[in-house]
Amino acid sequence: MLSAFYAARLCTPLEVIEDACLLVRDGTIEAVGTRAAVAAPSGAKAVELGDAWIAPGLLDIHVHGGAGHDVMRDDPAGRQAMERQMARTGVTAYLATTVTAPWDATLAALEHLGGAVAGGAAASSGDSGRARRLGIHLEGPFLSHARRGVHPPEHLVAPTPEKLDQMWQAAQGAIRLLTIAPEVPGAIETIHHARRLGIRVSLGHSDADAATAQAGIAAGGTQTTHTFNAMPALDHRVPNLLAVALSDRRLRSELICDGIHVAPEVAAFFLRAKGPEGAILVTDGISATGMPPGRYRLGGLEVEVQDGRCTFEGKLAGSVLTLDRAVRNAAKFAAWPLPTALRLATRNPAEAMGWQTRGELAVGATGDFIVLDGGGVVRRTYIGGLEG
Ligand SMILES: [Zn+2]
Repeated sequence: MLSAFYAARLCTPLEVIEDACLLVRDGTIEAVGTRAAVAAPSGAKAVELGDAWIAPGLLDIHVHGGAGHDVMRDDPAGRQAMERQMARTGVTAYLATTVTAPWDATLAALEHLGGAVAGGAAASSGDSGRARRLGIHLEGPFLSHARRGVHPPEHLVAPTPEKLDQMWQAAQGAIRLLTIAPEVPGAIETIHHARRLGIRVSLGHSDADAATAQAGIAAGGTQTTHTFNAMPALDHRVPNLLAVALSDRRLRSELICDGIHVAPEVAAFFLRAKGPEGAILVTDGISATGMPPGRYRLGGLEVEVQDGRCTFEGKLAGSVLTLDRAVRNAAKFAAWPLPTALRLATRNPAEAMGWQTRGELAVGATGDFIVLDGGGVVRRTYIGGLEG
């Protein structure tokens, strides 16, 4: 199937093309350019999108649930509802993110999570309206006791290559990202082992000083997890993981850009420090996302959700942020144009994860894209060239 999408503007996101045409054949992008430059073959289905923007589908590498579903639960119907809700907010692919749980429950969750990871470019008509699961982000159990947040202390595990292997096997090799505190004994060896398995490593839930953070980078850490949250505050004389995250160009850093986890002024400072290449927007969304206020699951916890804030025993416990809103917030907080903010949720996570056919509208890339109004509000989502 061949479709030609025409819109007033297309954001690749590295460049903006006016009066654009995007040609998608069987789920893969065949051409991108101006309407005048792209010659759509006869027989291509023409879709006129008027004054809208076309941009790559958003990628969420840190999300725990949505639409009432928690990813730790083996519930295919709930998972589909969550993936449909994500697609409505512009997310076309994501990493299912675990939380610290009893060891057996973690292995059981990894078994069902790993069993259903999406593959190639084409979407079948049955799942076109759902974000694709590309793998697993392990947010526990290798975290610092001091910076565990709401992760239950009794279920934190000392990192070892053997423990990681057990989880890797349970997940059938679907673990793509590991959050780990580099200062915990055994962490450095485990980071090396993760890299050997092809897992990307994010430093977080950590009390590390700058030297230990650098040791984590030397071992293979390339990212930081929800920067500012679950790490010590910035001290201008005693540098720590946060100081390294803000200053080291080798690291890409996640931000929960809801204005609650990090205040708008500090988010603006962070975005300018990291620049358009260095920041990654994530939601850290929990099952309550897209649902009314109330009490919701996050792994084994029951979290109170009120006024857009998720708490457990008074501590922040994930968010109800959606990634399209995170993009609009980033543009607003940093006073950046929309295409710059879009990069933080498209190309940057794709580059961080090594997803070469995602995050950018380019020839040969997966035909996952979104249609936005000029204010960044999602109008439609296409997955594999099909509208949900
Ligand atoms: Zn999280």
